[in-house]
Amino acid sequence: TTSLELNHIGKVYQTRTGEVQALSHVHLSIAPRSFVSIVGPSGCGKSTVMRIIAGLEQPSTGSIKKNGANLENHRDDMAVVFQKDVLLAWRSVLDNVLFPIEIKHGKKQKKATVDKAMQLLKSVGLAGFEQKYPHELSGGMKQRVAICRALIQDPQLLLMDEPFGALDALTREQMMYDLLRLSDTYQFTTVFITHSIEEAVFLSDKVVVMSGRPGSIVKEIPSTLSRPRN
Ligand code: ADP
Ligand code: ADP
Repeated sequence: TTSLELNHIGKVYQTRTGEVQALSHVHLSIAPRSFVSIVGPSGCGKSTVMRIIAGLEQPSTGSIKKNGANLENHRDDMAVVFQKDVLLAWRSVLDNVLFPIEIKHGKKQKKATVDKAMQLLKSVGLAGFEQKYPHELSGGMKQRVAICRALIQDPQLLLMDEPFGALDALTREQMMYDLLRLSDTYQFTTVFITHSIEEAVFLSDKVVVMSGRPGSIVKEIPSTLSRPRN
């Protein structure tokens, strides 16, 4: 169970032609096990917020606390899913899911880990696809594999940057139900970036609206439509 606290986050990118102020005074609380969506127009800094949480960018100002402590060096329990997540073409679906574990612990997998990978694949409708290769899968299936690859690490916090952005409407809807079920089963906290207000309202406990350049949070909406949480 992870709570996050972003305080006065600002971000300035240095570019060859000068500075880009991407974020200004971003405050955000993310409660343990909650599902928080970030919506807003292109360029308002959503991805930057996520990359800062993930440690892929440093904030220029402000701080992030996790469970009250400084976040630095405490990111083991996070996993990230991007819009177009790259699977490794020469590895089977199962071996793609197991890849992060292999990086950490070596080639020999515990049976329990393999079982969990199989279980995850089954829970997103990919039972029977374990030995297929990425080129044999649809876009939605690949994205499901990417989600399984994130969840095999047992993250407390799942960060998703437009994970369904490249999918057709029907697949997207199925994926939303899959994601809800997974978050109920594994009880991780989710930060979910989307262009789609429908997705955000459907999935979230809290919808965070960003806007402006530099971007900041202009509204937080508790989502009354969202499912009951246990
Ligand atoms: P989106 O609007 O979907 O976030 P963009 O096409 O704006 O996508 O940006 C994609 C990625 O390109 C960003 O996440 C960032 O890493 C990089 N990027 C965006 N703008 C710039 C820029 N001005 N200079 C360098 N890299 C950039
Ligand atoms: P969003 O995800 O909402 O589309 P981003 O976080 O990708 O927004 O970008 C916010 C602002 O920061 C934009 O003006 C974008 O061009 C700029 N930006 C993003 N990444 C980079 C980068 N790596 N270098 C320079 N500018 C960037």
